[in-house]
Amino acid sequence: MTPAQQELFDAAMAAMANAHAPYSHYPVGAAVRASSGTVYSGCNVENAAYPQGWCAEASAIAAMVTAGEREIVEVLTVCQGDLVGTCCGGCRQKLREFAALDVPVFACGPDGIRATFTLGQLLPHSFGPEHLAP
Ligand code: ZN
Repeated sequence: MTPAQQELFDAAMAAMANAHAPYSHYPVGAAVRASSGTVYSGCNVENAAYPQGWCAEASAIAAMVTAGEREIVEVLTVCQGDLVGTCCGGCRQKLREFAALDVPVFACGPDGIRATFTLGQLLPHSFGPEHLAP
């Protein structure tokens, strides 16, 4: 793992520790690096009214946007279990709003990086902001 990946991983692990996942028991952490170099992290936040919960990636994106940034250059997620956990479909689209198709997405477990994708691999033939450009 590179130092940059380690920084993302540490931020995502810390976020996962704060996940609110009393229903799924599936805590997730996410970290995005914005074009400034700053890392923003988030966790999943579930709700007793299940559809009102949201994913870790959404939390991280919200933190980035709240800070005034709009461009993601790296993404890392971490979850537990033995499987490679990748971003859900909705989060792939949320990332697409702020990340180019060649942005790397590192899918991690607590042991480290398990798989690396580009956003374009995770969301091929996607719809993005350029489709609405005047
Ligand atoms: Zn998601």
